[in-house]
Amino acid sequence: MDTPTHPGIAATPPSDRQAPLFGGPFEGSERAAELIARIGDFLHGELAALVRDKGLDHENGPDRQTLRHVWQRSHALGFYGMTLPVQMGGLGLSLLDHVLVKESIYASGSPLAPHVFGELSGPPRVGALARVATPMQMRQFIQPVAQAEKAICFALTEAEAGSDAGAVQTRARLDGDHYVLNGRKRFISGSPFADMAVLMASTSEDPDRREVTAFFVELDQPGVEVQTGYKTMAGQSTTGDIVLSDCRVPAANMIGERGKGLALALGRITVNRLLHCPAMVGLATVALRDARDHARSRRQFGRPIAAFQAIQHMLADMATQLAAARALMICTARQIDAGGDPRAEAAMAKLFCSEAAFRVADSAVQIHGGEGIVQGRRVEFLFRMLRMYRVLTGTSEIQKNIIARELIGEAAQ
Ligand SMILES: Cc1cc2nc3c(=O)[nH]c(=O)nc-3n(C[C@H](O)[C@H](O)[C@H](O)COP(=O)(O)OP(=O)(O)OC[C@H]3O[C@@H](n4cnc5c(N)ncnc54)[C@H](O)[C@@H]3O)c2cc1C
Repeated sequence: MDTPTHPGIAATPPSDRQAPLFGGPFEGSERAAELIARIGDFLHGELAALVRDKGLDHENGPDRQTLRHVWQRSHALGFYGMTLPVQMGGLGLSLLDHVLVKESIYASGSPLAPHVFGELSGPPRVGALARVATPMQMRQFIQPVAQAEKAICFALTEAEAGSDAGAVQTRARLDGDHYVLNGRKRFISGSPFADMAVLMASTSEDPDRREVTAFFVELDQPGVEVQTGYKTMAGQSTTGDIVLSDCRVPAANMIGERGKGLALALGRITVNRLLHCPAMVGLATVALRDARDHARSRRQFGRPIAAFQAIQHMLADMATQLAAARALMICTARQIDAGGDPRAEAAMAKLFCSEAAFRVADSAVQIHGGEGIVQGRRVEFLFRMLRMYRVLTGTSEIQKNIIARELIGEAAQ
């Protein structure tokens, strides 16, 4: 009889905690290898102890105070701001190194993995804004995030503006030296624990003309309410709505030029699309590792189920899909590092990694049999989590639209 494991990281032995599952030369730099080892020690040492002490798991995440502690410790160790531009304390890693470090963090299986870099509300949200931010905005909004003192979320989506991101209805009306904001943002990651938002609103006076502008908005100011209370299918409550009712924001909080908000948000879309892949590949690695270990230890008909060819083939398919997803991710990172803008390949990587990772999770559940569909098993959580990536940050259908457009050209419009 199997003992269900707690969906934390305690079940991962130190000798078997990294991606990929097979050995082979490391694809990144020595510096990245050294970082992966140090971050691994942090995740499997100090953070694993925190997970145990606080009783955290993927669905019962840290409270705000614990999160701040994690960000500040990660900052003190030199990890938190590593993705920032060098002049802001970043490490100047290649994109390939960035991808490999991130993959290893997610492959640790730690419930605290997204917080080592401040994925939902830290430096990755502001790094690209530094080139357009004013000195006041750097001081008041960007530096505090880089220093792990404040958290920030990114608010674009609305009820009527999802895949069609430019259709935002939230209005920003100029009134003297302030903009007055009204509207409602939906599904904003990190908003329940963020101090402020990079928020997209329409500054157009003509309802038929799209003009999206970005603003820094403090979330504790009058006229702003963060509404939580819903969970995603992964059981997490890290997403909320931001409701704006006559919220007055100084015009000085406008980011970059009026009407250029969407360009700002989508400016690094090729890189950002690719940067979702290591999370999926890392989590799918955890699912495959758990399935392999379960197949080795679970006995039926007097043998480990790993002795059955049906199970072996499932594991072989999972490993092959994961290797293909990983190869596409690495190849695209190399193209970007070489100065390219491989839009189709980045969309293919997001599409393929999300679809392959979900298939891997589905097979991992199957290999676990009844145990795999009991809540609390890590593969059961991973199945739900990896299902979400096929929708998040550009659905699979939208990725296909992009690939087709790049392939066919104007005739695809
Ligand atoms: C947990 C979570 C976290 C999120 N975090 C953030 C965040 O931090 N900030 C933020 O701004 N947003 C965030 N989002 C929003 C997310 O990016 C959107 O949900 C996603 O882009 C899809 O938009 P939608 O939900 O409106 O789906 P819709 O656009 O309504 O899509 C519904 C279906 O129609 C399909 N479809 C739509 N248009 C086309 C088309 N042209 N061609 C073919 N098929 C099409 C889609 O593929 C999908 O299958 C988050 C969402 C979730 C669930």
